[in-house]
Amino acid sequence: MIKIEIDDSSGFCFGVEAAIKKAEEELAKGTDLYCLGQIVHNDMEVKRLEEMGMKTLNYDEYKELKNATVLLRAHGEAPETYQIAKTNNINLIDATCPIVTKFQQRIKKAFDENPERQIVIYGQEKHPEIIGLSGQIGFKAIVVENEQDLNKIDFRKPLKLFSQTTKSALKYQAVADKIEEKTQSKAEISKTLCRAVSGREPDLEIFAQKHDAIIFISGKNSSNGKMLYNVCKQKNPKTYFITSVNELQKDWFSGINSVGITGATSTPKWLMEDAQNRISEIMNK
Ligand code: SF4
Repeated sequence: MIKIEIDDSSGFCFGVEAAIKKAEEELAKGTDLYCLGQIVHNDMEVKRLEEMGMKTLNYDEYKELKNATVLLRAHGEAPETYQIAKTNNINLIDATCPIVTKFQQRIKKAFDENPERQIVIYGQEKHPEIIGLSGQIGFKAIVVENEQDLNKIDFRKPLKLFSQTTKSALKYQAVADKIEEKTQSKAEISKTLCRAVSGREPDLEIFAQKHDAIIFISGKNSSNGKMLYNVCKQKNPKTYFITSVNELQKDWFSGINSVGITGATSTPKWLMEDAQNRISEIMNK
């Protein structure tokens, strides 16, 4: 019989867990609740909360909304979002992760101390966390996603480098090394990776090697999902990325003895348990 194990260290990080809890509490009180953007980068969990009554808004819809209750997710927001809430009489349920709040404060402080210094963030330009961070300094941050983006930096001027919280520690180090190599001025490197993600890398490598195949469950838009999936794939080529249990395929499990199930910090445990049950069903058919 095939052994199926769910990764102990998987499931929501505490920032996401707190945001979901706040949403559930409001919905239980009967609040007509909106969420600005997807509460987590996981369609299945969003669907579960929407079935409980939560409505997801995009930014254009938010700007038009008045006299309502809106939850701000763990990724954090730019100051404009709070300004709009004041103007439109919106009651905010602020679920910004405390780690992100501290990070926003650090960015602002670094900029205020020396506006001439370039603030560089390694991350995805369109990611909500990056928009919230750059918004703290009037969107003046230089966002670098890859080596080519380093051309945006003026290496004659001082700079301070930060990383989106969910990036790979190794890749961040590689970017920091490149910047230090190129700079003709002073480059300060900050530690802003979240341990809830980067701390999982070594354990995940062990978990991926322990099993014959890995099922990695995550939303397609999850930044840490992509990163943690690659960690597994590098250690175990039989790592399969799925967003829903309907994508599981019987031939992935033929001739193997053990399967590990894991996911992103935005992947709910119930989804991993569903996958575990579905694999058992498939194998017993
Ligand atoms: S990954 Fe880290 S910073 Fe982001 S929400 Fe989770 S705990 Fe907070």
